[in-house]
Amino acid sequence: AVTVLRLGHRPGRDERMTTHVGLTARALGADRVVFPDNAGQSLETVADITDRFGGPFEVELTDSPQGIVRNWTGHVVHLTMYGEQIQDVEDEVRTAHRDGEPLLVVVGAEKVPFDVYEAADWNVGVTNQPHSEVAGLAVFLDRLFEGRELEREWDDADRRVIPQKTGKRVEPTDEE
Ligand code: SAM
Repeated sequence: AVTVLRLGHRPGRDERMTTHVGLTARALGADRVVFPDNAGQSLETVADITDRFGGPFEVELTDSPQGIVRNWTGHVVHLTMYGEQIQDVEDEVRTAHRDGEPLLVVVGAEKVPFDVYEAADWNVGVTNQPHSEVAGLAVFLDRLFEGRELEREWDDADRRVIPQKTGKRVEPTDEE
């Protein structure tokens, strides 16, 4: 199972970014996202999308994001522009994940405390250029699942998008 942890959240300013970390985690195959406890509004949005478009996907708050990293039983990947290049470590991470241990994927907002770099089994850079936690997470999950996440089926959705060459088509599912 894959859990994504969002470290740090500045209310107001980070609202969309934190929400997008959650939506991207869900859409691209993670099982769960954990937000800091001041990100309740982002939790609501992600839970609402999961209700409408399906799951399973869990979204939770924590009062101790760093505690989750410290006490994690399994492997920890921290996404950072300072890390080893994803193309060099992806095989190792995938093998560890295949062994069935829970994988924690940590993304930051502002400056990430050095403890997190030390607690991580892998500090992973998606390029060593500064960009975004949402972009880093998307590329990481796609490499982890080798594209299989694109074929995923969703349970308990009340609507489903029918892919179109042009225009928008959304249908209610039978489960409604
Ligand atoms: N400057 C901050 C620091 O020193 O920790 C990072 C701020 S950055 C806007 C927010 C998050 O985006 C980072 O914590 C990291 O998780 C992610 N990120 C940014 N660039 C990345 C890259 N090249 N590879 C992987 N993750 C990246």
